[in-house]
Amino acid sequence: MPGYKQIFENNKAWVASKIATDKDFFENMAREQKPDYLYIGCSDSRVPANEIMGLGGGEVFVHRNVANLVNNTDLSVMASINYAVVQLEVKHIIVCGHYSCGGVKAAMQAEDLGLLNPWLRNIRDVYRLHMVELNAIEDEHQRYDRLVELNVQEQCINIIKTAAVQKSYVAKGYPIVHGWVYDLHQGLLIDLEIDFEGVLHEIQKIYDLTGRGLKNQ
Ligand SMILES: [Zn+2]
Repeated sequence: MPGYKQIFENNKAWVASKIATDKDFFENMAREQKPDYLYIGCSDSRVPANEIMGLGGGEVFVHRNVANLVNNTDLSVMASINYAVVQLEVKHIIVCGHYSCGGVKAAMQAEDLGLLNPWLRNIRDVYRLHMVELNAIEDEHQRYDRLVELNVQEQCINIIKTAAVQKSYVAKGYPIVHGWVYDLHQGLLIDLEIDFEGVLHEIQKIYDLTGRGLKNQ
């Protein structure tokens, strides 16, 4: 583990390496950002967003929190989604969970976790929604992995419920919402292949915020 001061040495070395390959690198970067992706992932230090996607600065707009939750009343995540969709006009929104997620595991415990209680309540709600399926899985580890996947799926649905996403999709055909899980043991990203069109159509029976009456189509 590098010491605190080492970070500034790392930073200088990084700047030098970037300028060595492109002397205008930072000038160009400072001009504007036009990323195609919004990534919403867990704050877990073992899941570095840009690195696992092989994307550099300027290529992905990132929001991270404990257990990659998209809570309707969380101004931070809602502002990130709104800004990414309306101002940056991202083409894809990704929710990326990961196996061995401490937040998801904590939500499976019968324990008072203080301030984390209301946050992790969202994951307990996911469990309640999918209780029959989850309780049928005997192996605790597999049940935990499945909850990680279902949590990603539910957060994708929460994104599709937003007016910004629905209106942009009707007007422009994007963004598309994707659910991924990152496997810490292998370093691989797994696409849960969420049926974006199908989910959108289904939830608009109740959550249609476009003002266009899509639900009747
Ligand atoms: Zn996590």
